[in-house]
Amino acid sequence: MRTQPNISVDLHCHSTVSDGVLTPDAIATRAFERGVNIWALTDHDELSGQALARQTAEQHGMKYISGVEISVTWAGKTVHIVGLGVDAQDTGLLEGLRQTRAGRADRAKRIGSNLERLGMPGAFEGALTYAGNPQLISRTHFARYLVEKGFCPNVQAVFDRYLSDEGPAHEPMHWAKLEAAVSWIRSAGGIAVIAHPGRYSYTETQFGAFFDVFKDCGGLGIEVVTGSHSTEQFGHYAQVARDYGFLASCGSDFHSSKESRHDLGSLPALPSDLKPVWQELV
Ligand code: AMP
Ligand code: MN
Ligand code: MN
Ligand code: MN
Repeated sequence: MRTQPNISVDLHCHSTVSDGVLTPDAIATRAFERGVNIWALTDHDELSGQALARQTAEQHGMKYISGVEISVTWAGKTVHIVGLGVDAQDTGLLEGLRQTRAGRADRAKRIGSNLERLGMPGAFEGALTYAGNPQLISRTHFARYLVEKGFCPNVQAVFDRYLSDEGPAHEPMHWAKLEAAVSWIRSAGGIAVIAHPGRYSYTETQFGAFFDVFKDCGGLGIEVVTGSHSTEQFGHYAQVARDYGFLASCGSDFHSSKESRHDLGSLPALPSDLKPVWQELV
């Protein structure tokens, strides 16, 4: 059942400012052409695409919600926290994101060395050519280079073989603390949302603790319908939203038409009894 039959909402995707392949204006236009009415660009750890995304979205008549996806380490694992409706000029948030990005360049060199050891030379320089923003060099840029060089047939295969969190070329990071990321988002006037919870390999007990800590520090939302979830997971995280009183969010996590399973605006609507996060923001 659709909540609002005429509304298409997509509050999670990436541009060339992080690891997407379309510029902020091109992805805004793609969202519009795919029928999205309420849209957010949520680049990793970076707000520099927000002005162009908003301007283009508003020219197309879409409602724009500013966004960012912050890399966080909690219980030794990486989780992503989306901030929606933040002030993209907020100095505290900008400084927090700058700190979060800071270790990426050194980590990329270490990933490059790991890949060289595994028989794939030149990957650091190669990945840099794919990074529209060198400060935001990410595993996705390495994956695109390794596909170009024929080491793997596609980006997913690179993650499966080398670059997943358990993969032989991965370099663990100490990203932002959960409490800090939520606090930056709140101080910038935004709502903190747990991104794609179905991707995290926590135990049931750890998930309970994670949701409790997130809520205690002022986190309000959770992605229920995302390109990273199966249909069963839509149901599971809908129940988590009900149990914890979280606002529900929905987004494709689109990066590229070649790589992403779900295009902008292509996901089903949220279950109608959930409270949509965008109702607080538009
Ligand atoms: P990074 O911020 O450099 O750690 O890269 C994280 C990005 O890599 C994510 O935002 C996804 O776009 C991609 N990614 C991470 N893990 C996987 C995976 N297992 N399969 C496919 N893509 C992944
Ligand atoms: Mn990404
Ligand atoms: Mn993510
Ligand atoms: Mn994402």
